[in-house]
Amino acid sequence: MIEFTDVTKSYSVGTRALKGVSMQIEDGEFVYLVGPSGSGKSTVIKMITGELKPTSGTVHVNGYSLEKIRKREIPYLRRTVGTVFQDFRLIQNKTVYDNVAFVMRAIGAREREIRERVPYVLNLVGLDTKTRRHPGELSGGEQQRLAIARALVNNPSTIIADEPTGNLDPARSLEIMSLLMEINNLGTTMLVVTHEKHLVERFHKRVISIDDGLIVSDGMDGYYRYENQ
Ligand code: ADP
Repeated sequence: MIEFTDVTKSYSVGTRALKGVSMQIEDGEFVYLVGPSGSGKSTVIKMITGELKPTSGTVHVNGYSLEKIRKREIPYLRRTVGTVFQDFRLIQNKTVYDNVAFVMRAIGAREREIRERVPYVLNLVGLDTKTRRHPGELSGGEQQRLAIARALVNNPSTIIADEPTGNLDPARSLEIMSLLMEINNLGTTMLVVTHEKHLVERFHKRVISIDDGLIVSDGMDGYYRYENQ
């Protein structure tokens, strides 16, 4: 579960990025986070991944309290949260298989586990026939599928996707959003930051709208509330 209670965040230069944000995301939910540039979306994400601490208020993420987490606990928090970005962030000189295996090795997984788990997630994202290719030999949609496989492989309870379709054409965007929903249906909590209004409106999901550091709407009634603010 992710829970923000009256969270504020001031950066050292004095910007108040969050001005009292409260929200709760239950295990297994699918939530869109929308809002204009500079509204505080990245600040919210960085708190969930333990990169930033709140200035005041409390943030609880999958059993960890951000305001009192110790430095050595942060890697354990991060294992509960997989991340997917607009720019894929793949390792260009590793194969598809090794891009995914690498993140299991990084947490000390055994080779036997890796040999079982990597093909499973590559099959889930539809890349099982391309395991020996390098990222440069994949389409944009395939690269994002690989990034999703990598986010998933250590079995996090939550995935955060930050503008995951920002570099893709409309058809590929729809496929990626559908894949994120399939993964959510298998039980992973999904938080998707996006500007793509048509995609948000196409799927009847919870939408949290943030503007100028405050949540301005939160519900199933869609993106239009954000435009009307
Ligand atoms: P979004 O992701 O919605 O574009 P951000 O969370 O990045 O918004 O930014 C929220 C506000 O905080 C903006 O006014 C931005 O300029 C400011 N901000 C973000 N990061 C920093 C930083 N490292 N130092 C100072 N101000 C920042």
